[in-house]
Amino acid sequence: MRWEGDDGRHEGWGATVFPDGWVSTGPADGGVRVHLIGSDGRIGFDRGDVVDGRTAIGWRGHCACGWQGPLWERVAKARHDFAARRIYALTEGLLFGDAPDDVAVAIRAEWETHLDPPTLVAVRQAAEAVRRARGHLDAAVHAAREDGRSWTQIGEAAGIRRQSAQDRWGP
Ligand SMILES: [Zn+2]
Repeated sequence: MRWEGDDGRHEGWGATVFPDGWVSTGPADGGVRVHLIGSDGRIGFDRGDVVDGRTAIGWRGHCACGWQGPLWERVAKARHDFAARRIYALTEGLLFGDAPDDVAVAIRAEWETHLDPPTLVAVRQAAEAVRRARGHLDAAVHAAREDGRSWTQIGEAAGIRRQSAQDRWGP
């Protein structure tokens, strides 16, 4: 299953991870197909054979942008700890390597978080507000000059020195 981002740059999926960096890209007859993922996030070399999903060592999210999530490591029952991403999964039914449902949900949530971490949303919005305000200020100064106001008056209104106002907005 694929998850689409808004801008076409992101396309995520939950991969089953096998030893030596091989990841599954989907079920095949009697198991899964495995590929290598390039550092650019693209699906690379196809190993060509069919792999038994029960040999999986874990799961993680991938994205076409190159992002990859942390490994949800498959462990023995005694080491199971969901919060530490150590997962015990019954071998039975693992032929296609699918992550347990709660792990699949968590990996999808990790992928969604990489799209828009809340702290970066705040930076983006604040920077956008600054750009807009700068545009308004430039337009207002231009209008004041058209209206015959001096650089001294404009500087005073803007809270800066005459010379600074002239340097910034003058010809
Ligand atoms: Zn992405």
